Amino acid sequence: MKLWFVCLVLWSSVLPTATGQRKAPPSRGSGDDRYKADILLIIAHPDDETGDVSGYLARAIFDEHRRVAVVCTTRGDRGGNAFGNARTAALGLEREIEARQAFAYLGIQNVWFVGAHDTPSQDVLSSLENWDHGSVLGEVIRIIRLTRPEVVLTWLPDAVAGENHGDHQAASVVATEAFDLAGNPAAFSEQIFAPRRSLPTPAEGLEPWQPQKIYYYTDADDALGYVQDTPPIPSPFRKNFLEGAGPQYLPTDVSPSLHKSYAAIAAQELSFYLTQDGRIGKEAVESNNFKDFEYPVRLIFGKSLVGGNVTGDVFEGVVPNAVPFDTETPAKPSHDVAELTLNGPWKFYREFWKAHHIENIGALLPIAELGIRAGSRLQVPLLIRNTTEANQELKLTSVLPNGWSDHSRYDNYEIGSGATYPVEASIDAPPDATGWFELTWNLQQGGMIIGTVKLRVSVYKKSGEP
Ligand SMILES: [Zn+2]
Repeated sequence: MKLWFVCLVLWSSVLPTATGQRKAPPSRGSGDDRYKADILLIIAHPDDETGDVSGYLARAIFDEHRRVAVVCTTRGDRGGNAFGNARTAALGLEREIEARQAFAYLGIQNVWFVGAHDTPSQDVLSSLENWDHGSVLGEVIRIIRLTRPEVVLTWLPDAVAGENHGDHQAASVVATEAFDLAGNPAAFSEQIFAPRRSLPTPAEGLEPWQPQKIYYYTDADDALGYVQDTPPIPSPFRKNFLEGAGPQYLPTDVSPSLHKSYAAIAAQELSFYLTQDGRIGKEAVESNNFKDFEYPVRLIFGKSLVGGNVTGDVFEGVVPNAVPFDTETPAKPSHDVAELTLNGPWKFYREFWKAHHIENIGALLPIAELGIRAGSRLQVPLLIRNTTEANQELKLTSVLPNGWSDHSRYDNYEIGSGATYPVEASIDAPPDATGWFELTWNLQQGGMIIGTVKLRVSVYKKSGEP
């Protein structure tokens, strides 16, 4: 009887009306509620949520009743395996299931794997190249349009001293680009136009969707977390860059609905990832000791189209209805006035932050930094640009801390007007030094310093090393 009723309704919706016109089909504007999310988490690897944001997700899901969906751009197929012999593609299959079980424990069912390959690198551009940037971006935009999140949560688009995986940064780059493009009907329009059955490949019938806020998180040393087997040395050059950069949530708080701390929930969630650090979560649960999971969850405010304070709650200012596409014209790429800059990922990020109106992210760490192991070699890409209207003779020199050695072949550079010259510096860190160091390069013209670049390096030893 019920089936008959449904058939009747469907049939009546295309019946001619009394005036002879057909009724409009049901609106698609509200989308499919089975996939609607309040938060879309965009990460690179199965387990990227553990430790850093799982404590916040537990709070949002169990006690604020937020719906969360997840995009994982890779299956982590190039990672190590702490549990069995599976590697590469086989490991990817295992890690996908670990993630599905872990997210299901948090009550998250809608998890998509985009299938880009895991990249063993700390260079965001290398990851984007290895992923096929455009196809991953298209898929993430598609998932935003399907899930219609108010909030996007992803890794920090910046190079930091810490774990700093190139894939983490690439996930954040794609998420930020997708945040700006998913509401634009002119971007990936084949996803939007209504399907036409007469065409061999119909359009997809999604609607544009503009998320309201984007937040970032990081595995920088400043964030602490269970992965720190030895406490990192704080930078003497600056305060913790996460202070005041966004809201913080305490995993020591007890979930009113589950009657256990968010730290305990985060430990249990990690325990599903046995090929990775799952053992740490399992042992914490077995010993009922959650100290490794009690570091504050520190989110970083990216941007908001609906206001709200930088350190306010993630959902502060969020409105219940769809917001219009952010039509602000993207900034034109600007020409750097500096004669000497860091090249590679650092140059990329300066342009990226400007293009996406998140210069506040660049202001978190105005001097570039990275972390290396003691005794290792650092390859630093530099770029000299002659922005003047005449040919210039320029000289590059470095100023290094005691014990550091420079194997670069610097030269006098004759550079034409408007031309650029890339240089890669090769610097060896001493084997016995740990802590923070500042490296400087100066560009000189006629004995005068006309440009300076600094890089701050955190040098560490692996635990167990002398
Ligand atoms: Zn990862």
